[in-house]
Amino acid sequence: MSGIFGVVSEKDCVEDLFFGTDYHSHLGTMFGGLDVLDGDHNRRIHSLANEQFRSKFSDFYKNVSGKKGMGVISDYEAQPLIFDTSFGKFSIAHVGKVSNLDSLVEDVKSNNGHFLGMSGGDKNPAELMGILINQGKDYVDGIQIAQEQIRGSSSMMLLADEGIYLARDKFGRTPIVVGKKDGAMAATLETTAFLNQGFEVEKNLGPGEIGILTEKGYEQLKKPEDKSAICSFLWVYYGYPSSDYLGINVEDMRNKSGGFLARIDKEEGLEVDLVAGIPDSGTAHAIGFAEGGGYRYGRPFVKYTPTWPRSFMPQDQSMRNLVAQKKLLPIKAKIEGKKILFCEDSIVRGTQLRDNIKMLYDEYGAKEVHMRPACPPLIHSCEFLNFSRSKSVMDLAGRKAIARLEGRREYDLEVYADENSEPHASMVDEIRKDIGLTSLRYQKMGDMVSAIGLPKKDLCTYCWDGKGKCGGCD
Ligand code: SF4
Repeated sequence: MSGIFGVVSEKDCVEDLFFGTDYHSHLGTMFGGLDVLDGDHNRRIHSLANEQFRSKFSDFYKNVSGKKGMGVISDYEAQPLIFDTSFGKFSIAHVGKVSNLDSLVEDVKSNNGHFLGMSGGDKNPAELMGILINQGKDYVDGIQIAQEQIRGSSSMMLLADEGIYLARDKFGRTPIVVGKKDGAMAATLETTAFLNQGFEVEKNLGPGEIGILTEKGYEQLKKPEDKSAICSFLWVYYGYPSSDYLGINVEDMRNKSGGFLARIDKEEGLEVDLVAGIPDSGTAHAIGFAEGGGYRYGRPFVKYTPTWPRSFMPQDQSMRNLVAQKKLLPIKAKIEGKKILFCEDSIVRGTQLRDNIKMLYDEYGAKEVHMRPACPPLIHSCEFLNFSRSKSVMDLAGRKAIARLEGRREYDLEVYADENSEPHASMVDEIRKDIGLTSLRYQKMGDMVSAIGLPKKDLCTYCWDGKGKCGGCD
């Protein structure tokens, strides 16, 4: 994932821009970028690999001024990039993933185009987007050309003299929300960025909608499409608890989801001493579980946040494991001799979890450890966002379990996605045994969808059941 924020103001906009962009820091760790228009573009990009956005950009915040600006926290490429075209000079920042990057790059090169690229030889997806937009006769035409050609997803902002062009992904995979306050307009992925800055939500852009933000307001330039496939994982895991997507709050969804998860355990009379969340995103699911099932909520783990503040840390997996292990602190008094049920946003690879569970039994004396992930088992890789926690689909705990059960690489995945099938039950039990849990029950797809509150056809659920590629077409 990545995050974008833009603001247009009658006064200087840099304070709103600086903090508005910073409120997207949980969505990426590779690059941060700001661009402020004050006659010309004043653009800065920094690596965030070893330092946080606010400290990297504090000089920019103190020394730059202007009335229009755009910022990005990126988990992959350096952004925003500046383009000077026949219809104007603009900078571009986007959220998403271009899964057909290589073939589009070859198309551009075969038409005598060229790329600056990135270090390591990769091509910068934001650069490709700028090149594709430049093929249009104006901004709206160019954005549509880019969005038609891109496989994957892209929601973007373009900062230009006349304002900030906003274009939501054609299936609405990620949100863009417009906000307003006296004398200023802003656009954001996370509405959290509005809360302490005085912006009120004015509008959620529809899928494929294009518009322009000026200090006078938002003007729609292209109507939305009727097919939606917004990412369900925004509510389950990615999103910040205080954010709303399409008016649906993240914390509220997680509480409801936990409540739904608790129903079967309550009916079956499961007895545990404590219900807990794996911090941070498991916490809200656990609160909902405890409230819904009538269980006691507690914190057998706390997170050391003063120096390990973010959940997405380095891109390197071994370093991420180390950070995850150092960050989570067990509280023996809450664990020893106890039957504990954990809620977790999801089980991705399961390796870190297995180590934590072993530690709970061996070093801290847990009696039973039950796990309730807030979504079904992940069996597909995300093709639409840079879901950076798993590099290969075969790393997923679900796929590893299936591979062990099948003993071959070719099999029917659909049957494993069917929650009522025997193979699905075998896969879940295989994951349970591998991680070392007393019991494991995943959230049902229908309950996850109900907790979000949108029709399933409007959601992307691809990573669980392979559905939602193109907004209800499957
Ligand atoms: S595949 Fe999963 S993570 Fe990717 S957009 Fe769809 S729901 Fe979100």
